Amino acid sequence: MAVEEATPLEGLKAELRKESRRAHLNFADLKSGGYIKQTQKDLFTVRLRCPGGRVTTEQMRVASEIAERYGRGTVHLTVRQSIEVPYVHHADFPAVQEMLKGVDWSIATCGPRVRVPTACAGCEYNPNGLGDTQGLCREVDRRFFGTPTGHHKFKISFSGCPIDCFRTREMDLGFQAMVGPRLDEAACNGCTLCVQACEDKALVMQAKLPVRDDSKCNNCGDCIKVCPIDAMLPRQRGWLVRVGGRHGKHPLFAYEVARYVSDEQVFVLIERALAWYRENAEGRERLGAAIQRLGLNRFIDEAIRPTGVEVIDNEADRRPYWTGGNFYDRAAA
Ligand code: SF4
Ligand code: SF4
Ligand code: SF4
Repeated sequence: MAVEEATPLEGLKAELRKESRRAHLNFADLKSGGYIKQTQKDLFTVRLRCPGGRVTTEQMRVASEIAERYGRGTVHLTVRQSIEVPYVHHADFPAVQEMLKGVDWSIATCGPRVRVPTACAGCEYNPNGLGDTQGLCREVDRRFFGTPTGHHKFKISFSGCPIDCFRTREMDLGFQAMVGPRLDEAACNGCTLCVQACEDKALVMQAKLPVRDDSKCNNCGDCIKVCPIDAMLPRQRGWLVRVGGRHGKHPLFAYEVARYVSDEQVFVLIERALAWYRENAEGRERLGAAIQRLGLNRFIDEAIRPTGVEVIDNEADRRPYWTGGNFYDRAAA
């Protein structure tokens, strides 16, 4: 039977692939670089770095071109805001990287490292937004992306308000924007609009003035937005900090450990929490598991309190809860 000879082009491609295999195929390195091995031989899913899910239209075009040239014409949008291109042969990684470089883009990371942070639109154009989630997310990505943890993955997320679209309760470190209202009694005309706007029933009228129950307030700022004469004003703004959350096979809801944290303090907290995690976790423990084993108070005293942020010291307030839900009712505690 006649053996079909490879065309010169096919021969060249085969040589290039062998060369590439020799030069690039270290699987641990590939994983740290965001190349995820597929079930199919020699094929990988390439995860792109999209902090806060924000990419330019030019980058979108390049992702689409990479998928057409080196994948199978589809991209996959992950739950953590990344764009992935499946079915890429490892021989094509150098070409993919070149294309990404052309639009100032790069590949994400996997393994025991700080992952690409996620964020909602925040106050940039979302009417509910109370903080600059996108700005902080970009800066956190710039400073911490890919930092080795020595144990397991480390996920950070930003939500612009208590609706918490970016599930800060399920992150190793989650930051949710918050605002504390204050009443200008002299200005208030007793119209009750703020009381009606407060879904958490944290405001009641007393002597023709709205009085706030801090234990019920979730710091959403709706009462401030609805007041027609600016008698309800922001007293304090910042980030509510959650630690030790995760999803997966053994999900954990994060603990609330600090509030009204400033943008600059966010970076300090990440540094301290990472250092504590590196030093205290065992094996492939996630941060939440290490905290459970060693105690939340120890984590707070060693990693959070020294930063000078406002620590949540009331233990009932630190516990995960859903107000009015059936998971844990803070009001019943
Ligand atoms: S968390 Fe709040 S600010 Fe962010 S997208 Fe959801 S509703 Fe908007
Ligand atoms: S900030 Fe939100 S929860 Fe708190 S009193 Fe105002 S409307 Fe109610
Ligand atoms: S909405 Fe403003 S003016 Fe009306 S009761 Fe509330 S604080 Fe006073």
